Amino acid sequence: MIGRVFHLTIVIYDSFLNFSGIMDNKVISDNNHMKKTVSCPICERLGEALLVDFDEDEHFPDAFRELEMVQWFDESHDLRRCPLCGTYYDFRFVTDNDIFQPTHTGEYRRIPSDEAERMVQEEKARLEKEKKEYRKKVKRYHGKVIRTLQEIERQIVEYLTDRPYEHVYAAEISKDLGLDIAVVEKALASLKQKEVVTEWRLSGLPVKYYICLWRSPKK
Ligand SMILES: [Zn+2]
Repeated sequence: MIGRVFHLTIVIYDSFLNFSGIMDNKVISDNNHMKKTVSCPICERLGEALLVDFDEDEHFPDAFRELEMVQWFDESHDLRRCPLCGTYYDFRFVTDNDIFQPTHTGEYRRIPSDEAERMVQEEKARLEKEKKEYRKKVKRYHGKVIRTLQEIERQIVEYLTDRPYEHVYAAEISKDLGLDIAVVEKALASLKQKEVVTEWRLSGLPVKYYICLWRSPKK
């Protein structure tokens, strides 16, 4: 019941903010960081920072679920933002697999916009670098074969090269590239035969595909 009332409050508050134009991030600068979070129904429930021990049955306030994802770094670290006032929160999930006393804790803390933006930029740069290195690797392994591929096969290799180490369903490739699924499957079968692409299978699930990079580089 409390959750429902709270949600309703947010909806009303949200409409008010949209109407009055306060939602515009430019209007809210970091200078009034404190003021805006105090008057924000999500942030005032979250507070500046919180550390919880999940093993002790502690948990985050419901308002944590209202935050939107801004940047995912890995399974245990991401950056979120309040959809109402734009305040950033750094979130970390920490697992310590100590055999005698494993612990699972989660924590978030508010961070200033410039710090959050710097984190996003750094992650972008890191991903770009990873993509470049992956592209080089794919070229080193399959460069010769890629030059002989058909247009659709080349398109698929390009698609996978853009997603370093990801395993992708044929249906996703078909949707993203706007190609008929049968055409994609035929091209994937051909790429598999040429050992450019390989399959990842888990019983009961559709097959996923990725670029095969575990053999020694072809001369
Ligand atoms: Zn807020």
